Amino acid sequence: MAIEKLLIANRGEIALRIHRACHEMGIKTVAVHSTADADAMHVRLADEAICIGPPAARDSYLNIANIISAAEISGADAIHPGYGFLSENAQFAEIVEAHGLIFVGPKPEHIRTMGDKVEAKRTAGALGLPLVPGSDGAIKDIVEAKKIAREIGYPVLIKAASGGGGRGMKVVTEEAELETLMQQAGSEAKAAFGDDTVYMEKYLGNPRHIEFQVFGDGNGNAIHLGERDCSLQRRHQKVLEEAPSPVISAAERDRMGGIVAKAMADMGYRGAGTIEFLWEEGEFYFIEMNTRLQVEHPVTEMITGVDLVREQIRVAEGRPLSVSQEDLRFSGHAIECRINAEDPQTFAPSPGTVTSYHVPGGMHVRVDSGLYQGYKVPPYYDSMIGKLIVYGRTREGCIMRLKRALEEYVIEGMKTTIPLHQKLLKDPEFQNGDYTIKWLEEWLARGE
Ligand code: ADP
Repeated sequence: MAIEKLLIANRGEIALRIHRACHEMGIKTVAVHSTADADAMHVRLADEAICIGPPAARDSYLNIANIISAAEISGADAIHPGYGFLSENAQFAEIVEAHGLIFVGPKPEHIRTMGDKVEAKRTAGALGLPLVPGSDGAIKDIVEAKKIAREIGYPVLIKAASGGGGRGMKVVTEEAELETLMQQAGSEAKAAFGDDTVYMEKYLGNPRHIEFQVFGDGNGNAIHLGERDCSLQRRHQKVLEEAPSPVISAAERDRMGGIVAKAMADMGYRGAGTIEFLWEEGEFYFIEMNTRLQVEHPVTEMITGVDLVREQIRVAEGRPLSVSQEDLRFSGHAIECRINAEDPQTFAPSPGTVTSYHVPGGMHVRVDSGLYQGYKVPPYYDSMIGKLIVYGRTREGCIMRLKRALEEYVIEGMKTTIPLHQKLLKDPEFQNGDYTIKWLEEWLARGE
């Protein structure tokens, strides 16, 4: 069914990103917003806007009843959840569909399966994805835990089945610590997620984070759109992402991409998804699947020329994928810098009013941001205020262009992480692509 009016259940740059794809497809948009976001750019640009509650996300962007009411009042026929908020809430997807609306996202059962880490790992294993060695599902007791840890060898990692954001995760270096740390992980998980189920994995010493973008039509056809290297992280938050990964060859991309695409086809997966792996010494180890669009999706768009939001909408309308694996070409290199309203040294949030604003431009430069001069960044939400994405024919050319674009980018009225990115791009190890998931924190600690 063709979508005529789409409600965007999100805010910030991603709401704007979705609005843009819709208008390019001739689809009308409905913005929903909290009272704190009445002046946001996507609210101004949308065809209609409806206030859904006070600033706190639980009362507005997570308020399912108000969002559904907004869809009914505006006569929207579809809802796009963006990322974060309700995007991986299977119940929300079910409610949307139960109201006769199109959910622009995966089938609810796939969201549910992949949202439970133990279930996700079991499913991934059954679909032929390589796993981190560890327990086969939840660990029942300390006797079982000791047995498995001896088999896979220390250090091991205890993880929460309902985990997220690194919570309920404990590294255990020797058997003497196992019982205490397992109990701690369980109670942390219970407090954070209401579920104390834990499982065990071998702790990888120094991996990279490499993820594959996948897309399915829901009818057994699926493709991969290559990998992104998201190893540059601080406290498990990605800071800069690139595609392709500096360490993955074209042959390896085809091989691993083929495996993930087949897994998605076998599953009957619908829409956009990301399969996250840790990668160490040439081996991939599945860690989780995100059943939504990712923040870093533009780097994939830059090197493939495929508009992923347009593709999500097409698939939600029941149309086939617009590109086949054979026709898909990877060309050049793209890097994304996440720009946060934070002190670039202490990372303390720095919301404020934009007093002066100038965006970089020129060939192959893309800025996804809802900022404008006079805009007041509200203190209630994530500190990411924009993304700068740059393309180059080579990685070297891409880095040069990114340096130039960062020089041009002016955001006054608050502290931002632009200076951090400028410093990072000058580092020889970064320039060589020589980094792992631990690298950025060590680099920051050295104060280079
Ligand atoms: P969460 O959902 O809590 O973010 P993930 O499973 O995605 O949990 O893991 C978050 C991060 O923790 C990874 O990006 C990686 O840095 C680290 N990590 C996860 N599993 C392992 C492992 N087996 N060995 C080493 N590091 C790991």
